[in-house]
Amino acid sequence: MAVYYISPHFDDAIGSCGGKIYLDYLAQKNPHIITIFSEVKEPFSNYAEDLHKYWDIKDPFRERKEENKNACTIIKAKNVSLKYCDAIYRIYNKKHMYSIDGSIFKEIHVADQDLYLDISNDLLKLVTKKDKLYFPLGIGNHVDHIIVNKVGQYLKEKGYIVKYYVDFSYEGIIPKKYKKIEVIKLPKDILMKKALAMSKYTSQINMLFGSEDKILDYYQDKLKGVEEYYA
Ligand SMILES: [Zn+2]
Repeated sequence: MAVYYISPHFDDAIGSCGGKIYLDYLAQKNPHIITIFSEVKEPFSNYAEDLHKYWDIKDPFRERKEENKNACTIIKAKNVSLKYCDAIYRIYNKKHMYSIDGSIFKEIHVADQDLYLDISNDLLKLVTKKDKLYFPLGIGNHVDHIIVNKVGQYLKEKGYIVKYYVDFSYEGIIPKKYKKIEVIKLPKDILMKKALAMSKYTSQINMLFGSEDKILDYYQDKLKGVEEYYA
């Protein structure tokens, strides 16, 4: 038996569940992080180019994978990636599907409607019905998070053990159909471990926290040192 944290992008699982992942490791529960949208593809849209500049990355194909490897090493999770492109790189009929800032928070593109089925089939090759699977609630409405949430709902219907985590850095209302099943108050040393792991996502720190020294404040003060899980 293992525990799988399904992460739409590299930083989502640790950013949202880093404390629990590390506690799972200490309890010998064999935590894995599976990142779904891990790939980068050219040609880049202007929007993607702007993000690369803002993230200050020179090699979009390599740097974010490297960051994730370092973060997973600290949080002691096994790191698996599926080969799907991040929304900002997806192309349909020679056009970028999400080409402007904001479009990734609107509607799922028609060509993405069945993407959750492809992802589900790939995940089913990796997990068993004895494993615990954690999916994002999709708070914040990012299309990639909504798609991964749909995968969770689909696997739940198929009889897999599915729970949900609160997408960090987003704000939104949790739909009533989800019931809170666990609240974990993280001890200071675990919070620090989570913040340290997040500091390895160097390119994302500005966007997510403002600066590296604000990472711990975010988890300690804004989120009150708590992680919540739903079913
Ligand atoms: Zn994400």
